[in-house]
Amino acid sequence: MSKKYVYFFGEGKAEGNAKMKDILGGKGANLAEMTNLGISVPPGFTISAEVCDYYYKHSQKYPEGLREEVEEHLKRLEKVTGKKFGDVEDPLLVSVRSGAAISMPGMMDTILNLGLNDQSVLGLAKLTNNERFAYDAYRRFIQMFGDVALGIEHKKFEQEIEAIKAKRGIKLDTEMTVEDLKELVERYKELYKREGKEFPQDPMKQLWIAIDAVFGSWMNKRAVDYRRLNHIPEDALLGTAVSVVSMVFGNMGDTSGTGVAFTRDPSTGEKRRYGEFLRNAQGEDVVAGIRTPESLEGLKKVSEEAYNELFRIFDILEKHYRDMQDVEFTVERGKLYMLQTRSAKRTAMAAVKVAVDMVNEGLITKEEAVMRVTPDHVDQLLHPMFVPDEKKKAIEEKRLIAKGLPASPGAASGKVVFSAKLAEELGEKEPVVLVRPETSPEDVAGMVAAQGILTARGGRTSHAAVVARGMGKCAVVGCEAIEVDEEKKEFHVGDITVKEGDWISIDGSTGEVFLGNIKAIKPQGLEGNLATILEWADEIRKLGVRTNADIPRDAKVARAFGAEGIGLCRTEHMFFDNEKIPVVREMIASETKEQREKALDKLLPMQKEDFKGLFREMKGLPVTIRLIDPPLHEFLPKEEEAQRKLAKDLGISFERVKEIVESLHEFNPMMGHRGCRLAITYPEIAVMQTKAIILAAIELKKEENIEVIPEIMVPLVGHVNELKYVKNIIVETADALIKESGVDLKYLVGTMIEVPRAAVTADQIAAEADFFSFGTNDLTQMTFGFSRDDSGKFLKDYLDKGILKVDPFKTLDKDGVGELVRMAKEKGRSVKPELKLGICGEHGGDPASIKIVNEIGLNYVSCSPYRVPIARLAAAQAVVEAKKND
Ligand code: PEP
Ligand code: MG
Repeated sequence: MSKKYVYFFGEGKAEGNAKMKDILGGKGANLAEMTNLGISVPPGFTISAEVCDYYYKHSQKYPEGLREEVEEHLKRLEKVTGKKFGDVEDPLLVSVRSGAAISMPGMMDTILNLGLNDQSVLGLAKLTNNERFAYDAYRRFIQMFGDVALGIEHKKFEQEIEAIKAKRGIKLDTEMTVEDLKELVERYKELYKREGKEFPQDPMKQLWIAIDAVFGSWMNKRAVDYRRLNHIPEDALLGTAVSVVSMVFGNMGDTSGTGVAFTRDPSTGEKRRYGEFLRNAQGEDVVAGIRTPESLEGLKKVSEEAYNELFRIFDILEKHYRDMQDVEFTVERGKLYMLQTRSAKRTAMAAVKVAVDMVNEGLITKEEAVMRVTPDHVDQLLHPMFVPDEKKKAIEEKRLIAKGLPASPGAASGKVVFSAKLAEELGEKEPVVLVRPETSPEDVAGMVAAQGILTARGGRTSHAAVVARGMGKCAVVGCEAIEVDEEKKEFHVGDITVKEGDWISIDGSTGEVFLGNIKAIKPQGLEGNLATILEWADEIRKLGVRTNADIPRDAKVARAFGAEGIGLCRTEHMFFDNEKIPVVREMIASETKEQREKALDKLLPMQKEDFKGLFREMKGLPVTIRLIDPPLHEFLPKEEEAQRKLAKDLGISFERVKEIVESLHEFNPMMGHRGCRLAITYPEIAVMQTKAIILAAIELKKEENIEVIPEIMVPLVGHVNELKYVKNIIVETADALIKESGVDLKYLVGTMIEVPRAAVTADQIAAEADFFSFGTNDLTQMTFGFSRDDSGKFLKDYLDKGILKVDPFKTLDKDGVGELVRMAKEKGRSVKPELKLGICGEHGGDPASIKIVNEIGLNYVSCSPYRVPIARLAAAQAVVEAKKND
């Protein structure tokens, strides 16, 4: 038997189900699933995404037997609906829809009303007793078919409508008469001819051209861009499926309509039915945001029965899918049909609320709840909001000019731009707010580049709202008070004119639009539902989460976010403040060891106070402090003026300063005189830093009864003898101070593993180390041989050309760098089974890397303070996923 490619739904038991998303796409799989749940969906069939895969692998040809299989299913569809394709009495009309396993809203093409031609339009008119409706459907089909399947510019169809309206002296499309619509159909056909195309009268021809177009749309620019921007790898999906669905009409008069709805509020997560309804309209009108719809209560006025049925279906769907659903429906003359259900896109606030509520409702487990919240959601909850006083001031100054729908939370300020293209161009350099009448999929790249999005039209489920929410980008939509003039590049609110380049601020949580720039702040704490989710994550995760912090303020933030210690304090960052940098420079410019020690003596009390500050904030938690790491030239001024000032401060000649700067020049500083190599040349620096750390701990214990176990870390070790040498200095210095103080203080000495040789000889190094911390920034640099500072220039080419799938400085390279980490772990633990292992490179805050680290089995990750909540979540998700994969 040949392979099955086409799957029927909408009658009896469907041939597919929700588990078959990979081949039926989300839409097809869920139409099948709803059929099986006894929910009324318009019958149809889905052509498998395997066909799309085949199509692109075989120079756009279809597998053998597909045509026959489609025809067979079409016959069944005719039988089930009792209608015939192209029939002059009762024609079968279908929509042809795309749908991949991962939802890509509006990215691919859909064609409605297919099957209409000069004959069947008569049938439709007779059947509905509504000639106007029939010709309107027909002209819409010719237009959509021409635009989507044959590439005739949308604008050209609009021009024909305008021409008729001008001739007749009317303003609205709805004012066109049957005669006007008939004329429009003829004008459209002429347009096809002018474009060198033909409008096919044969519905079978129409169907295959439409199927070609949908499969073709899988590789259109918007779809490819969407996948790239959403990090959907090209090989993650087979392609799109094509669903051919019998048409139901929401535009058959006052007892018909169409809508989109959510089983809960997708902005807040509240358990209230939420949606939008357009009476006497087709589905595309809602999504396109062209008419501003009414609430679901509008449906009640059309049909109370359909209204009640919709909510009954909500309950069935939520119980069945155990998640908030986003549905599309149509009421045709009082009868409700579900056209689609899928797991709803939601704001971060809604995601955590729905997850927590569903655990409390007994619908899902805590583990599932943790999986329902994404790292991006957590990020969004830590997003900016306007400084309340600044916002109040803006209101007092009458800068609040309009209010739209709060579609996606956050706060954004920037210069107004009216095109997505300009947003893309400027967005990298300066903050911009993209202002559009409404957005369409072409605008996505510009939306990514903008700080925020403001649209004049459309509801909360319009393109702008759905896409911005998915991106976690601040958006205000349907702001009807603003009038966008794209020609003149300005918008008006009453008598106020805002020009391109003027600043505005928008609040995506309230829908407010302000003139000018309003300062924003990041929320500093975790509260409510997010705190609950993260507590559940903490119960699940195995990895510890520490933070990389160098100053008490950051340590405090991190601790509030749940950090369980400091995994990396880069001591050199403490050297850059106004008080210390002159002394550090004095130390570097020293000609003799004595001079250097004198400068270090000045530095000691300052460093000690820094460490006391950190230890205080992290009371009771481990703190890893790394000895100075960067090459010394980084501390010296580069500008002549500053060099002259330094000469004066140090009482030496400008020429001498220049000589010192030049002497420190290296061709390859990242592999030069840095890390433990500094301590080997200048042991007195390591002595000073050790003293500062140990004295800080002793004093805190004595004076404030605060216990600390400092973990002193040696950077950039490649050979065990480097560690041995520096460790000796640390231990001698520390032990003498501890003995002298009479205080019982424990401390650890460990090393960074950030040179491949260290990983390869980790067993030898472990013999000398109490812990390892993987510095995967340097380890990636040295393993790939990609400079951390310069690889930006060419890494883009690697990614564009698919040589690498991800930037290895963002996500740990599992096969290379990851293997070194694994090897070091195994070798290290073979010598010291209790060896403590962590990672403190940037990868420690990257969810994909955290998964790899969890699998390797380190003790903890350490990341920047704002990543701590994300790391807690990602570490838990790694455990749940690993369990699933077992
Ligand atoms: C590292 O190399 O991964 C690291 C944490 O150290 P730094 O980034 O300071 O070189
Ligand atoms: Mg490093």
